[in-house]
Amino acid sequence: MQVLKFGGTSVANAENIDRVISIVSEKIKSDSTVLVVSALGGVTDLLLHAAVLASEGDESFREKLNYIEQRHLEAVKSLIPVTHQSQLLSLVKKSCNEIEDICNGIFLLRELTDRSRDRISSYGEWLSSQIISAAFRAKGIENVWKDSRELVVTNSVFTNAEVDFEITGERIKEFFVENKSTLYVLPGFIASDKQGVTTTLGRGGSDYTAAIMAASLNAALLEIWTDVSGMMTADPRLTANAKIIPHISYQEAMELSHFGAKVIYPPTIQPVMSRNIPVWIKNTFAPADNGTLIEATASRNGNIVRGISSINHIALISLEGSGMVGIPGFSRRLFEALSNEKINVILITQSSSEHSICVGINAASAPQAKQAVDTAFANEIALKKVEPLIIETELSIVALVGENMKSHPGISGRMFSAMGRNGVNIRAIAQGSSEKNISAVISTRDVKKAINVLHEEFFETAYKQVNLFITGTGNVGSRLLAQLRQQAQYLQQKMHLQVRVVGLSNSRRMLFKEDGVDLGSWENQLGGSVPANLNSFVQGIIDRNLRNSIFVDITANEEVASVYDRLLQKSVSVVACNKIAASSAFSNYRKLKDLADEFNSHFLFETNVGAGLPVIATLNDLVRSGDRIHQIDAVLSGTLNFVFNNYDGTRSFASVVRQAQTEGYTEPDPRLDLGGVDVMRKIMILARESGEMIEMSEIENRSFMPPSCMQGTVEDFYKEMEKEEAHFKKLYEEARDKGCKLKFVASFKNGKASVGLQHINPEHDLYHLYGKDNVVLFYTDRYSEQPMVVKGAGAGADVTASGVFADILRASK
Ligand code: ADP
Ligand code: ASP
Ligand code: MG
Repeated sequence: MQVLKFGGTSVANAENIDRVISIVSEKIKSDSTVLVVSALGGVTDLLLHAAVLASEGDESFREKLNYIEQRHLEAVKSLIPVTHQSQLLSLVKKSCNEIEDICNGIFLLRELTDRSRDRISSYGEWLSSQIISAAFRAKGIENVWKDSRELVVTNSVFTNAEVDFEITGERIKEFFVENKSTLYVLPGFIASDKQGVTTTLGRGGSDYTAAIMAASLNAALLEIWTDVSGMMTADPRLTANAKIIPHISYQEAMELSHFGAKVIYPPTIQPVMSRNIPVWIKNTFAPADNGTLIEATASRNGNIVRGISSINHIALISLEGSGMVGIPGFSRRLFEALSNEKINVILITQSSSEHSICVGINAASAPQAKQAVDTAFANEIALKKVEPLIIETELSIVALVGENMKSHPGISGRMFSAMGRNGVNIRAIAQGSSEKNISAVISTRDVKKAINVLHEEFFETAYKQVNLFITGTGNVGSRLLAQLRQQAQYLQQKMHLQVRVVGLSNSRRMLFKEDGVDLGSWENQLGGSVPANLNSFVQGIIDRNLRNSIFVDITANEEVASVYDRLLQKSVSVVACNKIAASSAFSNYRKLKDLADEFNSHFLFETNVGAGLPVIATLNDLVRSGDRIHQIDAVLSGTLNFVFNNYDGTRSFASVVRQAQTEGYTEPDPRLDLGGVDVMRKIMILARESGEMIEMSEIENRSFMPPSCMQGTVEDFYKEMEKEEAHFKKLYEEARDKGCKLKFVASFKNGKASVGLQHINPEHDLYHLYGKDNVVLFYTDRYSEQPMVVKGAGAGADVTASGVFADILRASK
């Protein structure tokens, strides 16, 4: 004997029922078969919804019932030949009239009891099973239909009745001995109490009916046919990367289903486990797929964690108070109060100080729990020994399940740090002593992210997904997008990173695309999107709450620099090409770094100094490895280098500056470069990264620019420079006469930073600098005689984009 159960989607309509018939007709060739079916997909929900509408006095329950009737009539008409339809059609009509009568009663009374709920929802399976039985017969496959309510006997806890296994087992055995057939068709989910009143086994309960049949008949196997190809490593609706679990033990399957894996109804495993009946989860829509085999022991498959699941609608109730410490009986009384109300306890944690007991329950029972517990402890509350029960809602549980976890230390560490890195706050933790399960209570809004983060941590060793939100699509931005596109394959293959641009914005337009903007056509996509709004862009990032999120600022905009704090504290990393934040007031710079530390995000700005050159990364590496910075000398302005490398008095200084601007080296206002402000910002950032608390006002600027040039508009600036040509020529000649070159040098030494023009002789490390080169010399404990030198192009869209790229990779760790 074998038992096969087909769920709601598998029997949703005639077309699907045909698939079921073809699967079953193969199966019955090998063994006699018990077929347990659900209601046509969605019908249970519709029936219960109609009942609720009726109880609320809403006449539209009739429309729902009409629709239910139509669904069944259509199924009959497509499955059964016209000549044989009439009996079944009138059965459907008669049943639907009965449902309507019951709903009318509910409508008049405005009262819906659990008993009526069960009565109404029982029609779903009752009808589907008769239609399916007739459909087999129409195909020439004889079968026996039996109403499960006559076999499965329960107590009278309507909507969630408990099975009396003894009576049920006897009735099933008796029936099957007396009625021989190769195929039996039975409704799942429905049962009756000892008085013969209809009960149900709880939502999803058809699986359980099938398991009860399998156990009572000592079947050779139980197959649960559904709409996925097996039990998966996580809910496929929450993570696209969920994989089929080929083998799993009863215990693990039970834990996973208890903690939310809807694919099997939790009580299903128990009856078959005690008889060691193998259970297969199979896909009606892909019957050739292997599916999942659930057995006593499952082979190890290299994964320590077998699966991840989650339950929503959890409330955490906490009983707290100094009066509880050391006094026995508090937990007993708490659990008694809950159990008297039939409130199911899902998770328990108690602090070792015994100062509080925290229990996870179904949120719907929270008000009831509050009342029961506060009454039970009324005395202690009055005496202020304990607080009134504290209730927190909008919580969920995520659980890791796997029997092998106990032999691997560090799993919970990995679990919590992966969530921590992504800003998922953990409210309570529970780990069974058998260590088959580690659960954490988190906010419901973080569930999807947590599941994905954990799935990535424990199952997707192949790659990690990084979600970018980029603002700024100018020279550097568009080069970055091109580099990301070009490197996508390499990153996936060599670095195991799947980097997607989920949000893209410039000053005009913005775009979100959760499965990633196609980098081949981002301009078109952005063009067709909505007008940009910084605030909604930031909110969009926060609301999406995606794991490994990075905000990339490739603007020079002050407003954009002011949103970093909002993102960092949501564990979104910030990669800034924009210098404004790192060179703002020290307190702001510090705050952003602290937020990044506190919320496990990164705040990175390598390109603020020397574009793509690894200046800050090198400095950080030196400091982190215990070296101390004594002195930094650097030439950090691409513009000033260009100007002094090209100016030799043969044409005017102003014209060389203008050339630098046309070639794109300068800031939009070239005076920021010429006046040294840009270089001051850079040396300040290096000083800060060396550990110095320093502000712009403390940096000495020995400017070579005549003050007259620094006033008025940019055009005035060029005019004034022409007038001062003699001044610039003199500077040049003084240096040349000594065999030196002019370099605008930034220095940091003994806590002081300064910038200014210097004569550099040919022996000096700063002498040989060409084009837009930058150079930084680090003098440290370890590099005391000869400095460590970082040198190379310090400006340009491509190198800057590659520096941003490098920061993105750093932030992806
Ligand atoms: P049926 O109607 O066949 O009983 P259910 O809807 O009750 O089907 O259960 C199957 C659904 O369970 C799948 O479509 C899937 O979305 C969901 N599900 C949740 N967690 C898991 C998991 N870990 N593995 C497989 N499916 C899961
Ligand atoms: N039809 C019932 C439900 O939707 C039982 C089941 O399908 O397992 O809950
Ligand atoms: Mg189900």
